[in-house]
Amino acid sequence: MSIYAYFNCHHCRQSVWLGKTLHSDSGPFAFQRGQSPPKHWNSPQLNKVVWKFLADHTGHHIDVRLESDMTDEMYSYQSIGGDSPGDITEEEYLKSPSGWYDSD
Ligand SMILES: [Zn+2]
Repeated sequence: MSIYAYFNCHHCRQSVWLGKTLHSDSGPFAFQRGQSPPKHWNSPQLNKVVWKFLADHTGHHIDVRLESDMTDEMYSYQSIGGDSPGDITEEEYLKSPSGWYDSD
């Protein structure tokens, strides 16, 4: 059974789905999306999303939660990369503010 994890800003009500939690005996050590994708640290777009999320939410209440610690309210946050109404694609997220994505 997969246990998923989310990176949340509770101030802005936004989240990033991190994927399946990979565990060792001492707890989570990584996250993975899909069956055999590149490792997250080899995924340039996801890396940009995470770094931008950190910058966008400086000073805000952010955390990483396993799905068992998510509330219904948290599941209603705007998901970056989600496909529900009100969500935003990773590509669109990385385009705002204009110019950020082109800076590298
Ligand atoms: Zn925020």
